[in-house]
Amino acid sequence: MALSRAQTNSGESLISSTFASRYVRTALPRFRIPEQSIPKDAAYQIINDELMLDGNPRLNLASFVTTWMEPECDKLIQNSVNKNYVDMDEYPVTTEFQNRCVNMIAHLFNAPIGEDETAVGVGTVGSSEAIMLAGLAFKRKWQNKMKAEGKPHDKPNIVTGANVQVCWEKFARYFEVELKEVKLREGYYVMDPAKAVELVDENTICVAAILGSTLNGEFEDVKMLNDLLVAKNAETGWDTPIHVDAASGGFIAPFIYPELEWDFRLPLVKSINVSGHKYGLVYAGVGWIIWRNKEDLPDELIFHINYLGADQPTFTLNFSKGSSQIIAQYYQLIRLGFEGYKDIMQNCRDNAAVLREGVENMGYFHLVSKDSGVPLVAFSLKDSSKYTVFEVVESLRRFGWIVPAYTMPADAEHIAVMRMVIREDFSRGLAERLITDLKKVMVEMDAHAKKHGHHEHVKKTAHQIEKEVTTYWRTFVARKKHSLVC
Ligand SMILES: *Cc1c(COP(=O)(O)O)cnc(C)c1O
Repeated sequence: MALSRAQTNSGESLISSTFASRYVRTALPRFRIPEQSIPKDAAYQIINDELMLDGNPRLNLASFVTTWMEPECDKLIQNSVNKNYVDMDEYPVTTEFQNRCVNMIAHLFNAPIGEDETAVGVGTVGSSEAIMLAGLAFKRKWQNKMKAEGKPHDKPNIVTGANVQVCWEKFARYFEVELKEVKLREGYYVMDPAKAVELVDENTICVAAILGSTLNGEFEDVKMLNDLLVAKNAETGWDTPIHVDAASGGFIAPFIYPELEWDFRLPLVKSINVSGHKYGLVYAGVGWIIWRNKEDLPDELIFHINYLGADQPTFTLNFSKGSSQIIAQYYQLIRLGFEGYKDIMQNCRDNAAVLREGVENMGYFHLVSKDSGVPLVAFSLKDSSKYTVFEVVESLRRFGWIVPAYTMPADAEHIAVMRMVIREDFSRGLAERLITDLKKVMVEMDAHAKKHGHHEHVKKTAHQIEKEVTTYWRTFVARKKHSLVC
């Protein structure tokens, strides 16, 4: 994210555009609202020209977020951009679509729905908002319980792996909950369930497991976590729950790993989030949070508004937002159905396998992603003494490929990896092309290293390499201001 800063010399920085000069004769100030209007075609041209320098979303292998939808759905999106989602009384059909989506997803995650059990859920801007809401519900439930027992309730904590996505750190800091992270180690890049359960104490509001680690796509073992936590709860008398962050895996596992028990089939799983805009196959701007039972969402967090029409319960962080992503999610769910999603996820898995094989056969890399999990290929260099993965991804950029490289979190910071995420629109042909380009880059890197005297005999120690990787990474991050991992 770019946190924009105001510029002091704002008046002097001007945009000039050759095309635009056809329509307008004065250059536009960059950082101040211009005095005069300009014609609409000039505005379009200026903005469109400047946007040409953005990367091509389809070649962006850094992100899990959808970059292609069918033209029919694009049309539905276009037709609904002027609908504010929060005006539920005015747009009851859109509200009904959200309810259908929540129901479909709750069923997909095997929510127990019976006489006195009803799952509840809500559409959000993404998994980050969903996770804030889930975290708040856990925090409030825990506080209520501690208060009722006459115990202190001012030091809540949450147990996660050190591999969590940044939104968990945000939740912890914004809502004042201590984050207790299970450290990783070389060769094991997800939360170890046994260590997580060891960290649980009476102040733990929940343990958060990830279905599809951002770093290597691996699914954490939620079943084992559930079993270990059931035992600990029985022993201590606590009832520490589990949240599953299925941002990327929630629309993968039900279709291609139906036997895997990670969802509401496990009794301690009380809430699950998923990003509609990742493998839910909708453009950026939609996520979902589902609670196992309405008792898992404390009533006092729900607001009731009536100034837009009938009584409307709401539990979201923001008020207004667009409707089009909800409509697009409904489109995907009914258009693709179970079999459609399954086909797409299988294709992604197959394409990831082609890419993985190509990468492995080159001989330069250690894979850090697994065969199952989110369809991505993450790998580190076997030998970082001559060049690093950061240099490799920089060279790949020349061919148009946008690939992120990053170091692992504690205690595996000395491992630097690059990651290629496979989405629906990443075809087999593109995978083959990428392998060819990566090979070219590696040959060049070797030739360059040789020319500059990096021979085998100048072998560096592991510690030196680690230091170099970290230094490189720091300057890389400082330059970019943000990492490409999302
Ligand atoms: C992407 C991701 C998030 C954040 O989700 P957004 O929908 O981008 O807000 C959280 N957790 C995991 C595991 C993710 O992959």
